[in-house]
Amino acid sequence: MRRRMPVKAVKQIWLDPQPQGTRAVYLVEARNEEEAREVSNLFAELETDLQVRQLSQGKLFSYAVKIRQDQQATLAELEFALRSNFGFVILHRSFDEVIYKIVDELCADTGSQLLPIPRCNICGKIEPFPDTVVNLADQGGETIASGAYCGTCTAASSARSNKEFLLSLLLADTRDFSALEDMQFVRAKSQKQSIKFRIQSRAEQIRAVNN
Ligand SMILES: [Zn+2]
Repeated sequence: MRRRMPVKAVKQIWLDPQPQGTRAVYLVEARNEEEAREVSNLFAELETDLQVRQLSQGKLFSYAVKIRQDQQATLAELEFALRSNFGFVILHRSFDEVIYKIVDELCADTGSQLLPIPRCNICGKIEPFPDTVVNLADQGGETIASGAYCGTCTAASSARSNKEFLLSLLLADTRDFSALEDMQFVRAKSQKQSIKFRIQSRAEQIRAVNN
């Protein structure tokens, strides 16, 4: 049974396409508190340039990173820096179920803590960096719900317009957004790369028909 989402208060919807890039995972064992601090600081600094998502902490620190095409050299540089300072380092040059299972098992073995990461709201796949994020907000801009979708599900949409694309994702969501189908969307001004729509009120729709 899909959970019916309350969408009555939704007045604006926007789509945030995420930057393209390749993914990698780093696993680092911290032998003491000082090493734990060092590795945390190192990845915190990287966040200014790369997309970073921490997967675990404790004895085993692991991070997924997403890098742009022009940042490829960073992967090897980072691996070198880690290997020079820590005893156990693994670099996996993609993010997939296999590496995530290894992180999970190593966490169990070392008593480390696996941190929550997003899942695609369509297929349920673990996705540290969703390809597309959709936000639904009320009149004041307060978020009511949001959806994160993986590359595979995003690419599966054959929509011809942004509006169709947005609806196709929400209608495929494991939660029930079908009430949105009856609403009228109009393109709204948006900032940066996001693509924004607002929901037309009943009075506006009537005016639009009469003009
Ligand atoms: Zn998916």
